[in-house]
Amino acid sequence: PDLLWRGHQLHYLFFFHDLSPGSCFFLPKGAYIYNSLIEFIRSEYRMRGFQEVVTPNIYNSKLWQTSGHWQHYSENMFSFEVEKETFALKPMNCPGHCLMFDHRPRSWRELPLRMADFGVLHRNELSGALTGLTRVRRFQQDDAHIFCTMDQIEEEIKGCLDFLRTVYDVFGFTFKLNLSTRPEKFLGEVEVWNQAEKQLENSLNEFGEKWVLNPGDGAFYGPKIDIQIKDAIGRYHQCATIQLDFQLPIRFNLTFVRYSLLWKRPVIIHRAILGSVERMIAILTENYGGKWYILPESCILCAHLTTRTGSAHQVRQEFHSAGLMTDVDLDPGCTLNKKIRNAQLAQYNFILVVGEKEKASDTVNVRTRDNKVHGERTVSDCIERLKQLKAGRARNAEEDF
Ligand SMILES: [Zn+2]
Repeated sequence: PDLLWRGHQLHYLFFFHDLSPGSCFFLPKGAYIYNSLIEFIRSEYRMRGFQEVVTPNIYNSKLWQTSGHWQHYSENMFSFEVEKETFALKPMNCPGHCLMFDHRPRSWRELPLRMADFGVLHRNELSGALTGLTRVRRFQQDDAHIFCTMDQIEEEIKGCLDFLRTVYDVFGFTFKLNLSTRPEKFLGEVEVWNQAEKQLENSLNEFGEKWVLNPGDGAFYGPKIDIQIKDAIGRYHQCATIQLDFQLPIRFNLTFVRYSLLWKRPVIIHRAILGSVERMIAILTENYGGKWYILPESCILCAHLTTRTGSAHQVRQEFHSAGLMTDVDLDPGCTLNKKIRNAQLAQYNFILVVGEKEKASDTVNVRTRDNKVHGERTVSDCIERLKQLKAGRARNAEEDF
């Protein structure tokens, strides 16, 4: 029964504890989902020219003074003293990325520079405001900052939009786009704002999805595109962000050099697609009703009572070597039919029976959680097919096996 990961059995994925309110404990199956989401985004990063970095969790409060967080956000930050100086846990990655950009002179040839970070973030939400995975104190984002020139904005935004469509298509979400432009109270020059907003408009038009203008709704430091995804039961969630920032490069005095000695200021694009991985897991779990479709490689091997356990373990080893998530149920107190039923309730995508007959022919007998029987396949065929389905991110993998 501790294989079940559906509906009210969600506590087999994760739990919370009073001793660390708002910080989730992900159990092995939950951690598997968590890491799969990150790996999905990471595989896209490789194809889209993002470079992953690893940055510190605690910073001297001087950093937050430079970034402006100390003045406006410090009550949401966990801070503490170290050797008579005040430090704080990061609530976002941007200031650290500014230090990284600034650690050596930068040339225009390096731009656009796309810095991605799955770093752990902490925000001090009041304990009364914490609600499951949707409002937490500890979380990770698929966060990235693009440092680019003013005239690269249009291309970069197009890239961001294409990226989010790819991800949401796999999840099966549709989405709404809003362009939020210069508010009444803003920083910077009107000319710069107009130029950037024009490029955002061009990117959105070329993207070809409907979008709506939200005049005056941008942040004081730059215009943004708000994205709302629609889940299976028609509710909207704000997850992705694409936010331009003219101010942070000024606060950190970031420059790049173009043609000999002319120093120029980059623009920063803050962007995330999943948003908080924690919150995305909550949305996807509800959206799929516990039936995860984005992990078509999740398998369990069920052995006949008479099968020597060695052969099931050996098959599992072959699956693991191929990078496929596989469990084994060898419970001697349970009939084969009961094992298959348990595995289906536990929402394994595929149930592979390893019996004496299959062992002799190096095969497994394949069926799905919805009891579609695919029959006998060789172990190597099975692995090959699952790898294909995984690589193709097939949403109807169980039908197409
Ligand atoms: Zn940021």
